[in-house]
Amino acid sequence: MTPYTPPTQDQLLAIRVNAGIEELSQSERFAAAEADLVEAIVAGVGEFAAGEFAPLNRIGDLEGAKLENGAVRLPDGFKSAYDAYVEQGWNAISSPEESGGQGLPFTLSCNVLENLGSANMAFNLLPMLSVGAIEALEHHGSDAQRALYLPQLVSGAWSGTMNLTEPQAGSDVGALRSTATPIDDGEHAGKYLIQGQKIFITWGEHDLAQNIIHLVLARLPDAPEGSRGISLFIVPKYHVNADGSLGAKNDLRCVSLEHKLGINASPTCVMSYGDNGECIGELVGAENRGLMAMFTMMNNARINVGNQGAQIAERATQQAIAYASDRVQSARAGSPDKNAVAIIEHPDVRRMIMRMKSLTEGVRALLYYCAGQVDRGTLGDEAPRMRAEVLVPLVKAWGTDVGVEVSGIGIQIHGGMGFIEETGAAQHWRDARIAPIYEGTNGIQAADLVTRKLGMDGGNAVFELLADIARDAQDEPALLALAQECETIAKWMRDDASLDDKLAGSVPFCTMFSVAVAGWQLLKQAQAVGQGQAPALAQSKPVTARFFLDCIVPEAIGQKAAAMAGAELLYSLPAEALAG
Ligand SMILES: Cc1cc2nc3c(=O)[nH]c(=O)nc-3n(C[C@H](O)[C@H](O)[C@H](O)COP(=O)(O)OP(=O)(O)OC[C@H]3O[C@@H](n4cnc5c(N)ncnc54)[C@H](O)[C@@H]3O)c2cc1C
Repeated sequence: MTPYTPPTQDQLLAIRVNAGIEELSQSERFAAAEADLVEAIVAGVGEFAAGEFAPLNRIGDLEGAKLENGAVRLPDGFKSAYDAYVEQGWNAISSPEESGGQGLPFTLSCNVLENLGSANMAFNLLPMLSVGAIEALEHHGSDAQRALYLPQLVSGAWSGTMNLTEPQAGSDVGALRSTATPIDDGEHAGKYLIQGQKIFITWGEHDLAQNIIHLVLARLPDAPEGSRGISLFIVPKYHVNADGSLGAKNDLRCVSLEHKLGINASPTCVMSYGDNGECIGELVGAENRGLMAMFTMMNNARINVGNQGAQIAERATQQAIAYASDRVQSARAGSPDKNAVAIIEHPDVRRMIMRMKSLTEGVRALLYYCAGQVDRGTLGDEAPRMRAEVLVPLVKAWGTDVGVEVSGIGIQIHGGMGFIEETGAAQHWRDARIAPIYEGTNGIQAADLVTRKLGMDGGNAVFELLADIARDAQDEPALLALAQECETIAKWMRDDASLDDKLAGSVPFCTMFSVAVAGWQLLKQAQAVGQGQAPALAQSKPVTARFFLDCIVPEAIGQKAAAMAGAELLYSLPAEALAG
């Protein structure tokens, strides 16, 4: 596997042009995010990720996490790299200052995660899940809970998990059955006895952090059926005393680790709560409002998973370019020089590399555009807050689809060696494959787009975004056409299509919409570079942006037929006939 070289200049360009960091730093809240600090963070975390996390990517894949006598062990090096991460304060970038964080924009924590995840996607899930737990407690925890749990989570001394999934409750979270019974008296009066089994819990058990704060969804006695009867609980691995010190171990354990296709260094745990009837949890927020609380953090968590698409695409692209520059096969077709050349000289390999690069940069542009809208929402600006909501399923679904596509092309560029594990190209693809599945499958994201998001503000949230793209695309016929086709589909879906028809076309529409926004944001990058920004990208950016606008955008237009095909054909064969 090739080393990781942080794409610092492209990240800075996206942070400036797409997130608009300079404007954010003019607000009182984000005043600290001045140009010098932003540059220092982006360069610093890139260097840290390349030096500490990247060298562990291969060994993490080969050896993976192991469960031994109830404890999860990671290969040598993970503990010291995590300690260094905590010590250098990277975990605390955008967390609240009153809990020891730096209070910087979400945009910058995206960059921390982007670098760590390109270096080592499996390892990066540990900080990523903690960020989610911090957000949930920040918004829904009581003052006492925030004071007790947040400082250690923010520093990274403790880590966090999200416990939704149960065997019968995957996409349908409302089907979960774990229980929470109020404790009336004794030492834990006012708290709850938690009982149940959760599956697929990322970093559910490990010894890198001193404590693990599990956020667990469970049902109170007599809670309403379905998602309206779910409450959220803090369930620490070790009890936390009132002074913040650690007490005895709680009644919870990791029963087993899943054997997976990829992200082998991320322990995916089956967790059992309350085997001995003594698992203690604290309610977060109001009773039966747990799913709402989880959803607060899910928005950013979904962006962070979309970010994984950019991460793995970047790493796979770097690896493919290195291989293609080195591997020699055949003379260049039509060349008088009959000597064999590096495969990067062949037109089809060029096409693949250009596709990898421009898709990666497109996802990055979309990611930071969305992050910037989240930050404006945090400042209290309603329109960008709503726009971020529209963008979340695009970042999550298209971003992770691109991660899989690009890492797949990476294998293709390696030829037979791509199929052989030792190059590392296969690991990127295996790691990438989970991201379209977890944090709400991409099908669920697309459904969210055509139902909830399309309905926001009577459709204006979507239509205003498309109008902005069309306004800026007057000199870009393909992008303009794509924005107009998206508008046509969105109007049909909102006004005429049946629910089945909408859902049947949701994924192609989500892809079209994502490509339109990404193309628009890449166009802005190319214009900024044309005006002298990011001189280091003066040669490459106009080309990668042009490839996106000329080759990727027209492909997306071609998905209109599938987006508007409706559901009738899909149901014209009964399920039994599909199997026959
Ligand atoms: C490695 C890994 C790590 C994970 N980490 C965590 C974690 O930390 N915490 C946690 O709680 N969970 C975690 N998960 C669980 C993950 O979020 C679920 O796997 C995911 O939500 C999908 O649920 P499911 O696997 O039950 O699939 P299902 O819900 O059975 O879905 C199967 C297929 O059917 C489709 N489908 C289902 N319902 C619908 C519908 N209504 N409309 C259209 N299509 C539908 C889906 O899109 C999918 O393609 C993890 C999973 C894995 C594999």
